Amino acid sequence: MKFQIEIQIEGKPPHVEIYDKHEVQSHARAVKWAQETVAMFNATLRHGERPRTLLSVTIIDEGAAGLPHTWQKQNLVTQSDGHGVFDIMKCAECGATGRRYGLSESITRSQAYRAKKWNNCPGSKQQPAPKEAP
Ligand SMILES: [Zn+2]
Repeated sequence: MKFQIEIQIEGKPPHVEIYDKHEVQSHARAVKWAQETVAMFNATLRHGERPRTLLSVTIIDEGAAGLPHTWQKQNLVTQSDGHGVFDIMKCAECGATGRRYGLSESITRSQAYRAKKWNNCPGSKQQPAPKEAP
């Protein structure tokens, strides 16, 4: 994913550097990468170079991480169970189902869609258009 790190070179105003690293797939990983990169730089200073301080790390673009599901409410009347009231949600693209509890923005995916691969929407399976009879 694409991320930016704010760096301060000793005695200078902070500046921003932008990186796009395929192996970095989370903010925590980006922070670790930036810390290691800055530590490495500071450990190998050449004559005239000044140590750098990492100020912040910000994710710019989730990149190939995937698309969100297109959740649509299925029930007309709010349902309820031991966890509280919920709406039944279904993705218009891939058909994954889940529940949205209360006013929460997040969807709890159904058991069948708990696997990590369903974190993002695989999209609709493109069905080839039926051939017209001659
Ligand atoms: Zn989906």
